[in-house]
Amino acid sequence: MPEHMNNKRILHLKKRIALVAHDNKKQELIDWVSAHKAILAEHELYGTGTTGNLIEQATGLSIAKMQSGPMGGDLQIGAMIAEHKIGVLIFFWDPMEAQPHDPDIRALLRICSVWNIPLASNRSTADFIISSPLFKQVYEIFEVDYSKYRNRYKPS
Ligand code: PGA
Repeated sequence: MPEHMNNKRILHLKKRIALVAHDNKKQELIDWVSAHKAILAEHELYGTGTTGNLIEQATGLSIAKMQSGPMGGDLQIGAMIAEHKIGVLIFFWDPMEAQPHDPDIRALLRICSVWNIPLASNRSTADFIISSPLFKQVYEIFEVDYSKYRNRYKPS
């Protein structure tokens, strides 16, 4: 194990998964969730407001809904990732259209890297994640060791 990756966190069997899609990608996410409904039903699902509503209507799955993305929903999901309450993000963002909440989107994508959680930003990656044997297991996340950063103002 590299020296800077030494803390451990667990993704349990029942995973907490956030689902987010921009408007032009919502149908794609609904189709993806429908295709994997039986698996996803075994996990705890979260979503931004509109995406969550549409997925619930289309699939009958229960989704804990945040605000709509541009109203702060992306930030709410990002905060849950920082609190280790969400462990997987499926986020079909739109590469072809500018979004009013671009800073929030960047923050959400960034915090996934900070905490090293699985992130699918398109359908192929989502397929790989959900079909991975690791998805069916308790998975140990290797975290970057931020202790040097945290202690940067403490006397050595
Ligand atoms: P929405 O938000 O699900 O409320 O449309 C998604 C987003 O744009 O982040």
